[in-house]
This record gives sequence, C-alpha cells and structure tokens, in this order.
Amino acid sequence: MSVALEGYPALVLNANFRPLSYFPLSLWSWQDAIKAVFMARVNVVDEYDHAVRSPSLEMRLPSVIALKDYIPPARRPAFTRFNVFLRDHFSCQYCGEAFPSENLTFDHVIPRSRGGTTLWHNVVTACAPCNLCKGNRLPRETGMYPRSTPRRPTAWELQENGRAFPPGHLHESWRDFLYWDAELQEG
Ligand SMILES: [Zn+2]
Repeated sequence: MSVALEGYPALVLNANFRPLSYFPLSLWSWQDAIKAVFMARVNVVDEYDHAVRSPSLEMRLPSVIALKDYIPPARRPAFTRFNVFLRDHFSCQYCGEAFPSENLTFDHVIPRSRGGTTLWHNVVTACAPCNLCKGNRLPRETGMYPRSTPRRPTAWELQENGRAFPPGHLHESWRDFLYWDAELQEG
C-alpha cells in the first residue's frame, strides 16, 4: 500500500484540496498520476523537478494532484481491523500503550463465548499481553474496562485520527496540504 518516495508518488487530494486519506496517506504511483492527468480526471497542483520524456513530450512528474470531482467520504466506515486500530489510535484500550499494528490484537469486550458480537461497540484494540490477561472474561470479572467506550466512528473521526500518524517520508510539496490548518492555528 505504501509507495516509496524514490518512486515519485503523487499526493492525491480530493477536489476540496484535502488529502483523500491521511493514513495511509493517499499516494499514487507516478504512472497512475500521469494517466489521470491525461484522462483529465485531476489537476496538477505541484510537480517534482524530475521529468519523463517521450519523443514528442517532456513532462515533469506531478507531486501533488487534485481530483476534479469531489469524492464524499464514506458515511459509514468499513468495519475492518485497520479501522478499529485507527479509531483506538493504535493503542491498547486496557493498558493505554501504543504499538505497531503487528503487535495489536482485536479484543471482544464481551467475549464471543459469552454472547459478545463482532461489531464496533464490542471490539477494541488490545496488546497481546492484555488480551491474554483478559481472556474469556467479562470486564467486571477482570476489572479491565476499555479506556474509551467502543462505538462506530465517523469517517471524519478516522480521518482526524489518521493525521496523528505522519508518514516517514514527506515530500516538501506535500506539507502545505497535510498540515495547513495546523499551521494556521499556530499563527
Ligand atoms: Zn495492553
């Protein structure tokens, strides 16, 4: 899903100039970005110094593109492991520690064996030791309660949570679009 910066990815903005997604950051390969430019689906907002050439054409690679047609965010975010972790800020809902996603698990607050459902309001992010410690018991049997009451997040909440996870590599031309309102607040 991640595109190496060396590959000249383009940051993809929605028609309102906000990234389509913060985390993972919406990036397209330069090939896809150029295809979209030729199909007139996007406007080029900024460019790399690097250019590609064909016998008839030289074109600088787009570093930031904006969709011409606005894509409304999904009204109901998909119930996926990733989105549960993102809702919970990639932190264990029992001990409060943040972990990389490979060290996180999916915990049923009310265990499935006790009738718990696999839905937003019954599933939280937990580290493996906390998950093991809680086992098939109810919160009141262990005294382990999730730090925030699990519920279905809005697409906007997930988007905002994702902004807390800046990618390792940022091209200079992307910064204005990723953090622009934060900078406005500081000023
Ligand atoms: Zn934990």
